Amino acid sequence: MAQIFAYIAHKDGVADDSALELLSVAQKIDAGADVTALVVGDGAGVDGVASEMAASYKTVWKIATPQLAYPNAELVRQAFVNLLPADSVVLIPHDTFGMDLGPGLAVKMASTFISDVVAIEGAEGGGLKVVRQEYSGMVSTHNLVEMGQGLVLNPRPGAFAPDESKAAGGEVVDKSGEAGELSAKRKFIEVVEAEVGDVDITKSDVLVSIGRGIEDEDNIELAEELAEAMGAVVSCSRPIVDAKWLEKSRQVGTSGQTVKPKVYLALGISGSFQHMGGIKGNPFILAVNKNPKAPIFQMADVGVAADILEFIPELTEKLDE
Ligand SMILES: Cc1cc2nc3c(=O)[nH]c(=O)nc-3n(C[C@H](O)[C@H](O)[C@H](O)COP(=O)(O)OP(=O)(O)OC[C@H]3O[C@@H](n4cnc5c(N)ncnc54)[C@H](O)[C@@H]3O)c2cc1C
Repeated sequence: MAQIFAYIAHKDGVADDSALELLSVAQKIDAGADVTALVVGDGAGVDGVASEMAASYKTVWKIATPQLAYPNAELVRQAFVNLLPADSVVLIPHDTFGMDLGPGLAVKMASTFISDVVAIEGAEGGGLKVVRQEYSGMVSTHNLVEMGQGLVLNPRPGAFAPDESKAAGGEVVDKSGEAGELSAKRKFIEVVEAEVGDVDITKSDVLVSIGRGIEDEDNIELAEELAEAMGAVVSCSRPIVDAKWLEKSRQVGTSGQTVKPKVYLALGISGSFQHMGGIKGNPFILAVNKNPKAPIFQMADVGVAADILEFIPELTEKLDE
């Protein structure tokens, strides 16, 4: 079996939740495999993340140069092409950066590429059965991938349980000197943090999140009443912001805020990966949607097939009682 590598996403010296999820993905591909974590960046933050990952991964490759202080996919791709064996299995989270890095890396390594992987169904006849979602999650496709050549997979953040056993006692190997000459046509300029707005949804333990299913701006009041009864804050999916019904600072998702609540109510939200990608920390998810086949139900702890315009006022009334 080829060597398995996991790209560790991190920010401000803190590893993303996907870091330990990729370890579970690797074990589903090859149970008992020694997986190598790839920690890329520069400065003290990258050292901290590399040491933290050594608790979970047998080997951690640290690739740190001033050029990689901000993860430019063009540079990271070059470093990986220079460092990784051609038949490697490379796991990269299906987030905004992973979608940038993964396809080009697969092309450069002449590897197979599969994005938005939500399940690994194991080996079959020398191949690997991989499930991905298409059409905004309305359809799951089951793919048989030939093994033996390179493979780049983008597993969906949150779709795999994290491996929190921390049993590796691994070592950090500095590979910075072997990353080769890196140059990019695209230059990083600055990071612009999302506006916090009137309410900071990233700080709330309970979010009442509304999607297009709320149907009308006037109905947002229903969600606000429910949030008040629950001591929660109202957040939303992108169509609500696009319609200018709520501020951008309330948007959860890959192009909005990353939230880490304990409880997440998804009301009239279909469950696109761009939306769910903004929810971290494995919260308890209650989904209410009038379409019983809505993809959100695959990710929810409790699902209710109902009209939210009836469900929300009833729940508020019960809570008020
Ligand atoms: C580059 C990019 C970045 C993006 N970033 C984000 C992001 O950060 N955040 C984000 O949310 N989206 C983002 N999107 C958009 C994303 O792809 C989806 O289009 C969006 O998440 C869908 O929002 P939704 O679930 O509210 O709407 P829909 O997908 O339209 O779903 C509405 C749901 O409501 C249900 N419904 C309708 N009426 C009712 C009712 N009365 N009662 C109960 N259920 C009802 C429907 O069955 C449906 O499942 C991004 C897209 C792109 C291309």
